[in-house]
Amino acid sequence: QKPTLIDTTRTVRAARGNQRTAKSWGAEAAKRMLMNNLDPEVAEHPESLVVYGGTGRAARSWEAYDAIVRTLDELEPDETLLVQSGKPVGVFRTHEWAPRVLIANSNLVGDWATWPEFRRLEELGLLMYGQMTAGSWIYIGTQGILQGTYETFAAVARSLGRDSLRGTLTLTGGAGGMGGAQPLAVTMNDGVVLIVDVDESRLARRVEHGYLDEYTTDLDAAVARVLAAKDAGEALSVGVVGNAAEVFPELHRRGVPIDIVTDQTSAHDPLAYLPIGVDVAEWKAEAERDAEEFTRRSRESMAAHVAAMVAFQDAGAAVFDYGNSIRREAELGGFDRAFAFPGFVPAYIRPQFEEGRGPFRWAALSGDPEDIAKTDRAIADLFPDDTALHRWLEKAGEKVHFEGLPARICWLGYKERHLAGLRFNEMVASGELSAPIVIGRDHLDSGSVASPYRETEAMKDGSDAIADWPLLNALLNTSSGASWVSLHHGGGVGIGRSLHAGQVTVADGTDLAAQKLERVLTNDPGTGVMRHVDAGYEHAREVARERGLNIPML
Ligand code: NAD
Repeated sequence: QKPTLIDTTRTVRAARGNQRTAKSWGAEAAKRMLMNNLDPEVAEHPESLVVYGGTGRAARSWEAYDAIVRTLDELEPDETLLVQSGKPVGVFRTHEWAPRVLIANSNLVGDWATWPEFRRLEELGLLMYGQMTAGSWIYIGTQGILQGTYETFAAVARSLGRDSLRGTLTLTGGAGGMGGAQPLAVTMNDGVVLIVDVDESRLARRVEHGYLDEYTTDLDAAVARVLAAKDAGEALSVGVVGNAAEVFPELHRRGVPIDIVTDQTSAHDPLAYLPIGVDVAEWKAEAERDAEEFTRRSRESMAAHVAAMVAFQDAGAAVFDYGNSIRREAELGGFDRAFAFPGFVPAYIRPQFEEGRGPFRWAALSGDPEDIAKTDRAIADLFPDDTALHRWLEKAGEKVHFEGLPARICWLGYKERHLAGLRFNEMVASGELSAPIVIGRDHLDSGSVASPYRETEAMKDGSDAIADWPLLNALLNTSSGASWVSLHHGGGVGIGRSLHAGQVTVADGTDLAAQKLERVLTNDPGTGVMRHVDAGYEHAREVARERGLNIPML
């Protein structure tokens, strides 16, 4: 019998509250977070188990999903479930400190790590694309990327010698699960943004969730709106329905005064990027009919799209790749200046990575937004001198609409995250929070990713493609007491281009949880500092020395 990949009759929503049906909070939390990933408020295409990022899935099929849920409910507190590309494949006796779930998604041996081979195996039902937090069950909706995007745009403003984006116009593409954070991130930095998406329903969803102010199908009207706002120094986000490969060159041709250009269409997967001349309604059928021809056309369109980005750069705009591998795809599409602009990590983020800083996130299993408000206050109290963090928590409290379980994200680094974890655990123990808290992070991370077009682009020592680091990170988190650990291939930038690991740890208020949290949340960002010390970054060395990280050869 063929596995069920699409089921429009199913609606998944995680249980709320402090009663569990699984035998440990580790297993209960994994189950609820898997379900939360597929909550219609959270997932981009829940009926097909797709959470975000092109085809990033939470489980391989609906049968596999049901089996995971059932197994997690039966799992003993000293057992570990193994999940292979979204399918539960075995349960083993381990011990209480071991993760309840170990996950490996989309991994292929080097020479076989190509989209065509991946799709052949996917077609046979043997694996799935796990993206980053889709297959590792810690996606929290568009907020998950919001702060990183907000910080990135703040760094862009600083690089332009400004303290905000007021009076600037940003052009970008892709209003999907991740890309949909861009308009709000720009307006939170007081700027104006025009965002292009081929799929009207994605723009409508962002307006509904408060991430986008308005959208139109009329390019002239959109341009008029954003230029008026730019001139008035007002913050505004406008979506326009169109193909970025056509709209970007058209805006350049018209000489629209654009200051900043980036893109977050799903360019990492040529089948998830719509080529010029294909209708949205025909997208899936066309891609299935002839994947190779579709890939060729989509790369050709990406070449036009990126050529326009480079033309904007030539005209003086600040242009950067936002982690979707569009430069490499455009190069494959025949445009040889695709790498004329940098990726966002070397351009804006690396100094944070040197401190092990990156997106740290947590979700309230109670389902009560008040629990997140309390954790926000706890974080603000723990780090009284971090003004940027305080500004973020305030803005997020005001502007972020929760999708699925209430959750929060903020950037914390080495020797900071464990303080938050321990504090949350105490708050669960005392009853101040009404149920356990799940603590994880993105795979946009300093120590757990090898991704030469993104997190490890242009490393100082040329070690961009060395993938020992994510393996060590996953092994260390497994040894430190994480509740679930995942090891993925191809997230963010596509098959063949990245290896990365994730961890999630549950604060259930017990002493055992406190011991695990202290180790995991110290060691996990510690691997980021270690990675950058090893690559020769001076600031990482200072951080290691000052904060007491033991590096044998430093
Ligand atoms: P998504 O699949 O949810 O959304 C992609 C959007 O792009 C869709 O709305 C789609 O309609 C639109 N699109 C596709 N082709 C288009 C075209 N030619 N013109 C205009 N719009 C088009 O994906 P997502 O979760 O938003 O992720 C977007 C990309 O960003 C992916 O490549 C992902 O891997 C990458 N990513 C980046 C980061 C980061 O930190 N910067 C993090 C996660 C993911």
